[in-house]
Amino acid sequence: MRPEIDLRYCKACNICVFMCPKQCFSKGVDISEKGYFAAVVDAPENCFNHERTGKLICELCVLSCPDQAISWKPELEEEKKDEHKTG
Ligand code: SF4
Ligand code: SF4
Repeated sequence: MRPEIDLRYCKACNICVFMCPKQCFSKGVDISEKGYFAAVVDAPENCFNHERTGKLICELCVLSCPDQAISWKPELEEEKKDEHKTG
């Protein structure tokens, strides 16, 4: 699974940026429709839950977001590990 930020709710407090032990988030540089520099999920492949479908190992970001802006989504196809790729 990958964390996803709902831009309708993110208020750019950056708690997720500081809380995540795997540096999955970074501070935003673009202004959302709501007028905030919403945080960005720029390294979802670092997440403890990457490619997990069962019980999640970590949910620090989801639990610490004061605006409940983070939820779980399945990985995008291009984010999945492709160990058999030859080049
Ligand atoms: S903790 Fe929530 S509200 Fe704060 S920057 Fe992260 S996603 Fe946005
Ligand atoms: S679940 Fe944990 S490792 Fe994954 S993005 Fe959230 S805080 Fe980071």
